[in-house]
Amino acid sequence: DSRTIDPKRADEDAPEASLRPQVLAEFVGQKASRENLSIFIQAARGRGEALDHVLLHGPPGLGKTTLAQIVARELGVGFRATSGPVIQRSGDLAAILTNLQPRDVLFIDEIHRLQPAIEEILYPAMEDFQLDLIIGEGPAARSVRIDLSPFTLVAATTRAGLLATPLRDRFGIPLRLIFYTHDELRLIVARGAEKLRFALTDEGAQEIAMRSRGTPRVAGRLLRRVRDFASVGRTGSGPVDRALADAALSRLEVDALGLDAMDRRYLKRIAEHHHGGPVGVETLAAALAEARDTLEDVVEPFLIQEGLVLRTSRGRVLADRGWKHLGLKPPPADRL
Ligand code: ADP
Repeated sequence: DSRTIDPKRADEDAPEASLRPQVLAEFVGQKASRENLSIFIQAARGRGEALDHVLLHGPPGLGKTTLAQIVARELGVGFRATSGPVIQRSGDLAAILTNLQPRDVLFIDEIHRLQPAIEEILYPAMEDFQLDLIIGEGPAARSVRIDLSPFTLVAATTRAGLLATPLRDRFGIPLRLIFYTHDELRLIVARGAEKLRFALTDEGAQEIAMRSRGTPRVAGRLLRRVRDFASVGRTGSGPVDRALADAALSRLEVDALGLDAMDRRYLKRIAEHHHGGPVGVETLAAALAEARDTLEDVVEPFLIQEGLVLRTSRGRVLADRGWKHLGLKPPPADRL
C-alpha cells in the first residue's frame, strides 16, 4: 500500500540513511533504553566481552535498526544485518553465524517471522556460541558441532508477544521503544532540516512534529514532502513557516493529530458500521482490505496510545475522543 505516512520502511526511505543518528548521544528520545544501553555497552567494552543479546520491540519506524547500528559502532565491532523472512534455510543462518568476527553485532529484523526450525538453530548459538548442524539425510545423517565467535544478537520485532517464550528468554537486554513526544520529534525534524539544508522555522518544525504520529520515520517523510511543496510552485521565499507546513500536510491528508486517510477509514468503519464497537480485528481487516498484522502493528498502536480506540476482550471500541475526532456523536452510553 502507499500510505503517505506509513511508518513501515519503503524504497523511498533509502536516502533516510543520511538522517540516521550515528552515535548514542545523537539519538533523541527513548531515554530509559538509551541510558541502560549506554551502561551495558561500557561494561561490555570494559570487560572486552560481547554485549549480551538485545531485543528491541515496538512499532515500526521508532529507531530499532538505528539503535542496532549505533550499538555496533559504540562497541567498536562489525555490524551484519538480515531479517527473519529472508532466512529461508538453516544453511543461510549457519553461513551468517560462522562468518561473524568476535563480538560482532548481528541484527535480525522482524525476528518473529523466523521459521521455527531456524529458530532452533539460534538457541545454542545464542546460549553457548555453538552451532549444531545435521549433515546428510536418512541413516547417513550425522550431527556436527561448530564453535562460533562470541557475538551479540540484536533482534527487532513489532510485538514481543509474537516471540516464542524460549526465544524471548534468551535476550538478556529486552528494550521496549515507545512513541516519541512532540518535543523530541521537533528536535529530530529540526536536525533533519539542517542536514537537508532546508530552511524551516521553529514553528514549522513544531507543526511537522505534531503530525508525525509519534514516529521519527514519519517525521522524516513529512519533512521531505513539505520540502517538495516548498520548492515547487511557491511564490514567496525565506524559511518554511507553520502556515506553509500546515498547507503541505493538509494536502497530504494528514490531519491535526497526524492521522492519515487509512487511520480515519479505520475509525469511521467502527463508528459507522459497528456503532462504535466492540468489533473484532479480523472483521475490520477484511472490511478495510488490510492485513490483520498491519492493523495490529502499524495502525492501532498509535490510535490506542492517543486514546481514540480501546482494545477490549470483546474487540475494538471507539473511545469518546475517537468520536470527537471524527466530529460524530457517540450513541447513548448503555451500548456497552
Ligand atoms: P525501525 O527499525 O524501528 O523501523 P529505523 O531505525 O529504521 O526504525 O528508523 C526510521 C527512521 O527514523 C530513520 O530514518 C532514522 O534515522 C530515524 N530515527 C529513528 N529514531 C531516531 C531518533 N531517535 N533520532 C533521530 N532519528 C531517528
